[in-house]
Amino acid sequence: MTNGNLHGMKIVTQTDKMSRWARETRKAGKTIVLVPTMGALHAGHLALFREGRRKGDVLIVSIFVNPAQFNDPSDYERYPRELETDIEKCRKEKVDVVFAPAKDGMYPAGERPERILLPDVANVLEGPSRPGHFEGVVRIVSKLFRIVEPHVAIFGLKDYQQVRVIQEMVKGQKFPVIILSCPTVRTREGLALSSRNSRLSEQGREKALLISRTLKAAQYLVSHGEKKTDVILKKLKKGLMKEEDFRIDYLRIVDAETLEEIEIITRPALLAVAAFVEGVRLIDNCILEAV
Ligand code: AMP
Repeated sequence: MTNGNLHGMKIVTQTDKMSRWARETRKAGKTIVLVPTMGALHAGHLALFREGRRKGDVLIVSIFVNPAQFNDPSDYERYPRELETDIEKCRKEKVDVVFAPAKDGMYPAGERPERILLPDVANVLEGPSRPGHFEGVVRIVSKLFRIVEPHVAIFGLKDYQQVRVIQEMVKGQKFPVIILSCPTVRTREGLALSSRNSRLSEQGREKALLISRTLKAAQYLVSHGEKKTDVILKKLKKGLMKEEDFRIDYLRIVDAETLEEIEIITRPALLAVAAFVEGVRLIDNCILEAV
């Protein structure tokens, strides 16, 4: 694909062209919003785009399946890639620029990866479960920030820990960007939308509903006065134990800000879950607030 204009929307594949365009746009006094994605766009992504439209003059959506953040090579291989339909969706959402760089555009051969010091919030939950994942996330997001220099960048709370890691990274590296987050978009039944859901069978999707039902059960317990996290987790796990083709990677309640494990819910807490359904790894979360 070449750099070009499609129905008023610009498609940029080269990093230097992207930088130049963004710099000129900035100089012209326009506010730039960036929404980074890995494509296979769904309504969750589109909600971020709509928020982006409201927050600035120019909306840039990046589409790049970032190899550095996949700890499992087969997950990277099987990750859905639908650039043509993604471009069409972006056009309908009145995105101004789709930035879809090639792998060697983002990771030039021979480039020495910069040393990355991860914030503490990266060392729990997804951190130990997916070694190297957050290094890859921080690497790509900081590259995107340097190329686009957005005023605002928007991320989804479906990846709550990612939002916290990026907030800390921005603080640590003093990036002049405002980080905004959007709530998780779900199907009517409650399944959090994810590009990986396309790899589930009909039964798999049904089974995956156990995840959001577990979150709801926890919210019910907490809204009825239960504050002890071990009691809550025991009850939730009991409901999930006997399910076939469903394996929990982790199910934890942590402080919503520090992501440290807690025993009693006194401040907003995060219930985070990662589970394998039909071999597909899904994550979800919700906030628990004591009454
Ligand atoms: P991804 O393409 O999966 O890397 O996601 C790109 C952005 O969309 C990230 O900030 C995600 O947190 C966000 N996102 C993914 N799924 C959802 C969803 N169901 N609801 C809201 N945001 C989402």
